[in-house]
Amino acid sequence: MEKYWNLFVSSFTDYGGYLWREILYPSWGNYFYWLIGLSLFFWLLEVVVPWRQHQAKIRQDFWLDGFYMFFNFFLFSLVGFNAISNIGVEAFNDFLALFGIENLVAFEIWSWPVWAQLLTLFVVRDFIQWNVHRLLHRSEFLWKFHKVHHSVQQMGFAAHLRFHWGETVVYRSLEYIPLAMIGFGIQDFFLVHIFATAIGHFNHANIRLPLGPLRYLFNNPQMHIWHHAKEMPRRYGANYGISLSLWDYLFGTVYMPEDGRDIALGFEEVEHYPNSFLEQQWQPFREGRPHPPRKAGLQEAEAPAAAAAVEAPPLETTPLPMNKPA
Ligand SMILES: [Zn+2]
Ligand SMILES: [Zn+2]
Repeated sequence: MEKYWNLFVSSFTDYGGYLWREILYPSWGNYFYWLIGLSLFFWLLEVVVPWRQHQAKIRQDFWLDGFYMFFNFFLFSLVGFNAISNIGVEAFNDFLALFGIENLVAFEIWSWPVWAQLLTLFVVRDFIQWNVHRLLHRSEFLWKFHKVHHSVQQMGFAAHLRFHWGETVVYRSLEYIPLAMIGFGIQDFFLVHIFATAIGHFNHANIRLPLGPLRYLFNNPQMHIWHHAKEMPRRYGANYGISLSLWDYLFGTVYMPEDGRDIALGFEEVEHYPNSFLEQQWQPFREGRPHPPRKAGLQEAEAPAAAAAVEAPPLETTPLPMNKPA
């Protein structure tokens, strides 16, 4: 037990030291300043070439979402997730050791060229997250947490990282085993995380940047806005893509009936949803209502394969490597 306690304590101090160094020492490999830089970049685009020109430059909930960005990227790890996930991984490895299993690595991917490793990580992880996102919409329990992300009523880049910390736990836990089986190292993650963060900011940004044929590959604001539509034709929503739109085209979950620039966003009675950070964190635990019927219409026509879930703010909560569901 002492091992776990020591790990618990060192997780706080290690992460605290890491975050402090991030702030003090800017560099090209620094998550803190990349997050700030990407945010300023997309905010500038929103100011210069806005899609909804009537929308305020400092839109509704701008500062709330700004706080969410730093909370979900850094603070949640600092206040506990780092410690809990380290212990979870340690306990999981100890459990595997009972059966003589030393690790889960099933493919020797490190023998591949670096670009192939990064591409594989990006694509595999995005597909897992597409499934998790669908699950968040289909499970009544998980939907209560995911509603925080869908409570956005005016869209902008920072809405990308408005999500309940429970989502981080779900995503990281469900990603852990499949990614561990591929065996990635910490150096592989940085580029993928930053790239995914940039696309996530882009998807939510109030800009119009036609991608041409690339829209069948990458998610974009004109597609993702429909994921946030207040009235969906399918009970569980559509356009679950995180970074890639490809999965929605492949599995028939695309929904873009027209230009979605000015559609109402949110869900039924979103006007009454709490709009402060602390209340939103508490809301899933006190909400006893079932999944709000998302307007019955078309039956969900989904392709076979994939099991569950939905959209999201995937996010790199911690820079630490593969030894944790973070
Ligand atoms: Zn969603
Ligand atoms: Zn979204």
